[in-house]
Amino acid sequence: MFVGHYAASLAAKAIEPRAPLWTYVIGAQLIDIGWGGLIMAGVEKVRIDPTLPGSSLDLYHMPYTHSLPAVVLWSLAGALAVRFVLRLPVRAAVFVGLAVFSHWILDLLVHRPDLELWFGDGKVGFGLWNYPVPEQAVEIGLLALGAAAWAWLRGRAGQSLWPVLAFLALLVAVQIAAMLPPLGGDPVSMGGSAIAVYLVVGLAAWAADRRKAA
Ligand SMILES: [Zn+2]
Repeated sequence: MFVGHYAASLAAKAIEPRAPLWTYVIGAQLIDIGWGGLIMAGVEKVRIDPTLPGSSLDLYHMPYTHSLPAVVLWSLAGALAVRFVLRLPVRAAVFVGLAVFSHWILDLLVHRPDLELWFGDGKVGFGLWNYPVPEQAVEIGLLALGAAAWAWLRGRAGQSLWPVLAFLALLVAVQIAAMLPPLGGDPVSMGGSAIAVYLVVGLAAWAADRRKAA
């Protein structure tokens, strides 16, 4: 699951527009940004197995970012950060927290059993990655729904739809790049390129959602 996570960001923006889009976009990938850092540090582990269908990632150790209790803590941290650092309204902070948590629910659909229900225990995952075509269809379908909700919100507010189209075009390009075989199988290049992509998409979300000062 990659661009599908942004469906949650766009849906959250449509339901609670008082949080800037970039907080939902970074939020929906927050635990993968943490994963990139911990992979680079050698704390969490991944290996490439080219024989695997769909995603070639064998994510055999990621208790601090992708276990259920860890995601609850990341979600709380995200909500508290936007509440107290960005001073967002409570409801907006709750929705940012939900966007962080949505990552785990969507990962649960596609991952092979590598998501722990407790630290180091009870790995789950419905394994849609084993069926690459339906997996892509689910991701793109979810993203289309989220984008439609966001476009509806902007249309109702009398805002331009160009940012929606530009943001989607970027995500499609990123998704195509993500389907190519990884450039390097070493943890530093995998974690580093993941973080770089998530930050670029976050920056694009900031640009797409910017309001001109009156
Ligand atoms: Zn993930």
